[in-house]
Amino acid sequence: MCRHIGYVGTPVPVGEVLTRGPHSLRTQAWAPREMRGGGTINADGFGVAWWGRDAASVTRYRNADPIWTDPAVDEVLPQLTAHAVLGSVRSATVGMPVERAACAPFLWETWAFSHNGVVPGWRSVLTAVLSDLDTAATRAGMTRRYETSHLLEAEALTDSAALWVLLRRLLDPEPPAGLAETPATALRLLVTGVLHHAPDARVNLLLGNGTALWATTCYHSLYALIGDEFAVLSSEPYDDDARWQQLPDRSLVCAEPGELSVETLDLGRSTATESLPI
Ligand code: GLN
Repeated sequence: MCRHIGYVGTPVPVGEVLTRGPHSLRTQAWAPREMRGGGTINADGFGVAWWGRDAASVTRYRNADPIWTDPAVDEVLPQLTAHAVLGSVRSATVGMPVERAACAPFLWETWAFSHNGVVPGWRSVLTAVLSDLDTAATRAGMTRRYETSHLLEAEALTDSAALWVLLRRLLDPEPPAGLAETPATALRLLVTGVLHHAPDARVNLLLGNGTALWATTCYHSLYALIGDEFAVLSSEPYDDDARWQQLPDRSLVCAEPGELSVETLDLGRSTATESLPI
């Protein structure tokens, strides 16, 4: 169980998103309320990514030490202002390395990504998902290939880093286009593909590009706080604002300032999914 948070909206100090409220992400690291198996505290590092006004680039800070031990959270990160922030605290799954490279957020281009959960047997499961994607791409007449060797690009030997390899490949708009036309389709394809091979997988994903947030709920908790000028998705509410909404399990969520869309995450709902052999 890791915990993560995403913010988009009016400018905020980066550090403040990690520490705001009586039940901030930093507090959730050592006193999470919604533990659903898989650890008791999130002491295996943390990370935060942030974007400026035009979301043209993303910057990141990570540390493999517990978030409550890093003075940068109070002394440096509050000095930086951002229009969007994505943060995470990590509880490493048993058997996975505790190192900086394994701490979310993972970055590619202007995207940032975090995973709360576990994919049991991730090496064989994600190899099988890549192979399904490749079959679907071939059937759809695409020359773009999803090859198992792409898993070697994972930044760390963890399920989360490997999931990011697959997701960023689905997000890549470079011609010939991939299977997913939108970030939501990419998330749906990935989660449904993973669940097909590992029905007990826990895949709460959080994705941001500096202007919007996308997320899935699959086993772990997620809440949304939406105002006219901001949107927050968070594993747990950081305060007692009455506007927090708990998101149902097995949902695909998109949040922007003033807007929240929640769809059911099931197979066969999107046209791209229909072409998958799963
Ligand atoms: N399995 C992932 C890791 O070890 C995420 C763990 C979690 O959600 N606790 O990094």
